[in-house]
Amino acid sequence: MARFPGVDYLHFDSLLTEQELLVRQTARQFTDERVLPIIRKAYNDGDFPRQLIPELAQLGFLGANLEGYGCAGMNNVEYGLIMQELERGDTGVRSFVSVQGALVMYAIRAFGSKEQKEHWLPRLQSGNAIGCFGLTEPDFGSNPSGMRTVAEKRGNQWLLNGEKTWITNGSLADVAIVWARTPEGIGGFLVEPTMPGYSVTDIHGKLSMRASVTSSLRFSDCVLPGEAVLPEAKGLRAALSCLSQARFGIGWGVLGAAMDCYETAREYVITRKQFDNRPLAGHQLVQEKLVWMITEITKAQLLALQVARLKDAGKAEAAHISMLKRNNVAIALECARLSRDLLGANGIMDEYPIMRHMCNLETVKTYEGTDHIHALVIGERITGVPAYR
Ligand SMILES: Cc1cc2nc3c(=O)[nH]c(=O)nc-3n(C[C@H](O)[C@H](O)[C@H](O)COP(=O)(O)OP(=O)(O)OC[C@H]3O[C@@H](n4cnc5c(N)ncnc54)[C@H](O)[C@@H]3O)c2cc1C
Repeated sequence: MARFPGVDYLHFDSLLTEQELLVRQTARQFTDERVLPIIRKAYNDGDFPRQLIPELAQLGFLGANLEGYGCAGMNNVEYGLIMQELERGDTGVRSFVSVQGALVMYAIRAFGSKEQKEHWLPRLQSGNAIGCFGLTEPDFGSNPSGMRTVAEKRGNQWLLNGEKTWITNGSLADVAIVWARTPEGIGGFLVEPTMPGYSVTDIHGKLSMRASVTSSLRFSDCVLPGEAVLPEAKGLRAALSCLSQARFGIGWGVLGAAMDCYETAREYVITRKQFDNRPLAGHQLVQEKLVWMITEITKAQLLALQVARLKDAGKAEAAHISMLKRNNVAIALECARLSRDLLGANGIMDEYPIMRHMCNLETVKTYEGTDHIHALVIGERITGVPAYR
């Protein structure tokens, strides 16, 4: 049985269906029983716990909100609740699932040929193949439109040259979705490690996302077959639509990290005693911090649910997802900081999950559109004036 009691101040669960509650229960139990016992060591060792992949696949968590090709076809609330529970375990585990489903499987499902879908989607769903998504370059992060990676047509092949960096799952991947400049605009390509001219190196020295593989991909006159191109991916818009899927999952995922930090602090201050043998929880300044956390978590849950319902109805805009990602990451990071504070010296120890969440959330604030970039997306949506440049 799942051990985490959940955080539900305003009867949030009454807004969920039986099926949604069941999916969350399954994901919660998976995190409690399979992720939490191993994550501290994996994080400290800088290892991604790849032994979890077959189970994540069996539970239907890979590409969970996609239809067909063996995918579970869940709604977006169910999908979000899975992300929440996985990130309560660790952002690295949630990121693996996000990249596999929202960036790689979604890209192939939305923009691939019939043959590409039939070849890759069942393999990716079952965890027999792993994917990564290469958009960021050393000189182009927030502004991918400046990318230098180029794909040129040579007879019935493509020649790929360039570099991608900060790529989650890079060296684990059997297939990389690589975005490159072509004479017709930016396009997406399916690149496999066996293709000549392709090399991958892992990035070491990360103090965040240690239980996640992050790599750089290099293409030096890399030869791709003509059918490696995603035929329906026309322009940067296609890549950005994949990011919208992943950002949606992040908006839910970080709730899990925030809940874990809140619950850890709440339990701690009830038992820890200072000054006249009184529990820390009996001090007003301590309560105020917990109150801030539960209020912000509750608001963030409702934001996530509304965006998911809009997404299910086909009405979610990229700018809605920007608000979800930006707000929920910000409050999760603040919850981690407050929680660390409430645990005093113990808060810095790896015996508690707080510092791990806090370090991970620093990455989450940056990847998939930084806090600033999402502010600019929302700003453009409400004023009509783009302010990126
Ligand atoms: C662990 C990890 C995993 C990642 N995984 C992937 C992946 O799988 N695939 C992938 O393609 N990428 C991935 N990324 C890359 C990530 O998406 C980029 O780091 C992100 O887009 C930001 O780019 P940057 O780091 O170059 O920062 P920069 O773009 O250089 O930004 C630095 C700072 O400047 C600010 N800034 C930039 N432009 C503006 C502006 N116009 N107005 C105001 N402020 C601005 C930013 O908000 C930020 O605060 C990953 C990153 C990390 C850390």
